[in-house]
Amino acid sequence: MSIAIDPDRLGVKKVADALEGSEEPHLLTGDQYRASLRDGRRIVSANAEEIKDVTDHPATSVVNTIAHILDMQHDSATQDALTYVGDDGARRAIGWQVPTKREHLWAKRDATRMITLETLGMYGRPPDYGPLMSMGFLAVIDRVEAENREFADNMRKYVQMSGDLNLLSTDLIADPQSDRRIPRNEKPGQLRIVEDRPDGIVVRGAKVAGSIGAMCHMLTLSTVLGEGVSDDAAIWAAVPTNSAGLSLLLREPTVGANPNPVDHPVDAKGEETDQFYLFDNVFIPNELVFSVRNRALLDVYYESGAYMLWSIMMRLGFRAEIFAGVAQAITEILGTDKIPGVQAAVAEITLYAQTLRAYTVATIEESVEWCGIQVPNPPLVTAGRLYSIREYPRITYLMKDLSGQALISRWPEKVWNHPEFGPMLESFLPGTGVTAAEKNRFFSFVWDLVSGAHANRVALFENVNATPPAYVAHLVYEHTDRSEMARFAREYAGISPESHT
Ligand SMILES: Cc1cc2nc3c(=O)[nH]c(=O)nc-3n(C[C@H](O)[C@H](O)[C@H](O)COP(=O)(O)OP(=O)(O)OC[C@H]3O[C@@H](n4cnc5c(N)ncnc54)[C@H](O)[C@@H]3O)c2cc1C
Repeated sequence: MSIAIDPDRLGVKKVADALEGSEEPHLLTGDQYRASLRDGRRIVSANAEEIKDVTDHPATSVVNTIAHILDMQHDSATQDALTYVGDDGARRAIGWQVPTKREHLWAKRDATRMITLETLGMYGRPPDYGPLMSMGFLAVIDRVEAENREFADNMRKYVQMSGDLNLLSTDLIADPQSDRRIPRNEKPGQLRIVEDRPDGIVVRGAKVAGSIGAMCHMLTLSTVLGEGVSDDAAIWAAVPTNSAGLSLLLREPTVGANPNPVDHPVDAKGEETDQFYLFDNVFIPNELVFSVRNRALLDVYYESGAYMLWSIMMRLGFRAEIFAGVAQAITEILGTDKIPGVQAAVAEITLYAQTLRAYTVATIEESVEWCGIQVPNPPLVTAGRLYSIREYPRITYLMKDLSGQALISRWPEKVWNHPEFGPMLESFLPGTGVTAAEKNRFFSFVWDLVSGAHANRVALFENVNATPPAYVAHLVYEHTDRSEMARFAREYAGISPESHT
């Protein structure tokens, strides 16, 4: 059942208009998605140029890849993995299904796998990710309810509206990086409430990264790493991307304008932008406010992030499966696949993939129930995430190492079509069982995947998005119960079972 909302007030009028009269009233097509993004949002390129239409600009060309994923929701071959049929008989995006059963987690896992194969996992905030931040809100809704029942109700209605309108969202957590000597609550960039109005709040300040936000409809704000912030900075809310006073300043692109898909098959699909969000007195309507000035919610990152951290870990697991396949193909194409040392490197990449696969299975099979919904086992998610990001540089290093000169003995299509150089390259550089041009094409793909500027941005992202490895290690320490085995060890050694400190 759909809920009644005022789409104009909640910044989603263009989405509602795009879906009006559709055969599938809750599933955007790619074209409807494009139309929904022409909603007055303020996006500024790294050249300080106002991007009037994100659907028609090289810096935001990833819109087309996302549009394709939305079209897949309507394709009979992929629809069942990406959508679900609710009690009202209507289809909605699978991300917005509230996981009351373990099988719902499996369904989310399948959708993430499909989207990762489609995008090669190059986007940290794909369409399946955004809803999981909101599922995390539902996982701690008892604490919000204790603060204010209306806020808890707003959260539930937000999830329902997002499912009804197939909204794309991303999360804003990290604060602008600035002089650490300034106390957090005095930092000028800290996003704060500057006015309380009867119908909402007004906020001012900045947030960072919120990758892919320029292509989303909503931004979910939550002060969950909020130690040391002032009461006015403790805000949980959803903010429409087209809110008046909100500017998204895109970082410098890592992908050239309109790359040739043969020379850069991955880059040609576009990149997610990591932008700076400037909030210049942005009004957030009451319906989208989930908590304000609640100090009890300033440190619930681990709990409210349980689903989104799981999603990040799974995506890396599926990327790892791709990496293992790519490593195998590299060695076959170079004819190195029978060399024991080479096989050991491929085995190491395979081990990475298999380990992450095991984490994915275990996090679902050992899910826990919080606030009536199934949450992927949080200590296992945290351990899997730490493993996935610690090993990532090693795995991509191995793939580059396995490639040898092939990553630089590559030329664009134009050179291959050159009457003099093309034939010479073809005769001097064939691979094992593939022509030189095919080999060139394959290693252009490997370059984009693990070696080029875009791949390096992704590596940077994997390392620090959703907190850097040292902090994840701290979470592993804090949230894994070792007490039973510590007692066992003490008893086995014949000393006191409890610590006296
Ligand atoms: C490409 C990219 C995309 C991102 N996308 C998103 C996004 O979509 N959403 C979002 O909310 N955030 C995103 N982030 C931001 C990310 O969450 C932060 O970068 C991260 O939390 C680290 O915060 P910081 O950058 O302010 O680093 P700082 O806090 O300045 O820390 C710098 C470094 O110091 C070390 N350090 C800091 N604190 C500790 C500690 N307690 N213990 C040990 N070492 C420490 C770490 O090495 C850390 O990397 C993204 C970042 C990047 C680079």
